[in-house]
Amino acid sequence: MPAQASISRRQLLKGSPRAAEFSPRPPGVDLASMNACTRCGECVSACPEGILAIADCGVVLLPEQGECSFCGSCAEVCEEPVFATDLSMSHIFAISNDCLVQAGITCMSCRDACPEEAISMQPRIGGPFVPVLDQSACTGCGACVAPCPANAIHAVKKELPDA
Ligand code: SF4
Ligand code: SF4
Ligand code: SF4
Repeated sequence: MPAQASISRRQLLKGSPRAAEFSPRPPGVDLASMNACTRCGECVSACPEGILAIADCGVVLLPEQGECSFCGSCAEVCEEPVFATDLSMSHIFAISNDCLVQAGITCMSCRDACPEEAISMQPRIGGPFVPVLDQSACTGCGACVAPCPANAIHAVKKELPDA
């Protein structure tokens, strides 16, 4: 436990995206609507990908277990006003400094996994290509998370578009 705390503090000081890490939720669920979650678990049972779980705060998404297909089954079975009709995610993903490329190791696993082609590999002098995640193209599906051998990809809150 203390080791985890020191890691988080170091990352916070480095300004790594991990500093903004938080629990992602299924599509159509935001922080406000989570208040209506009774933690009944119906959505967890309905998810064909097995990527939902019940936490103290309500339903959460577990991208390390798989990709969300946006099938809508979780929203269909929920009897409470938790899911919006717009099944978009309230998070996107970011790549932290834990990426293997930062240690000079070539890796393109996240780029290859992304169905939206939101991750591109950009050349740099003196090292392997660097993955760059276009957050405007990221749907928050989480397909890039499990393939990352460095556990370097984490959810961050999606900023609301300008009104
Ligand atoms: S939309 Fe489908 S795949 Fe995604 S979390 Fe809900 S039930 Fe699971
Ligand atoms: S979360 Fe999905 S859309 Fe976003 S970068 Fe990862 S694989 Fe691509
Ligand atoms: S999969 Fe992970 S380690 Fe590999 S390039 Fe992407 S972020 Fe870096």
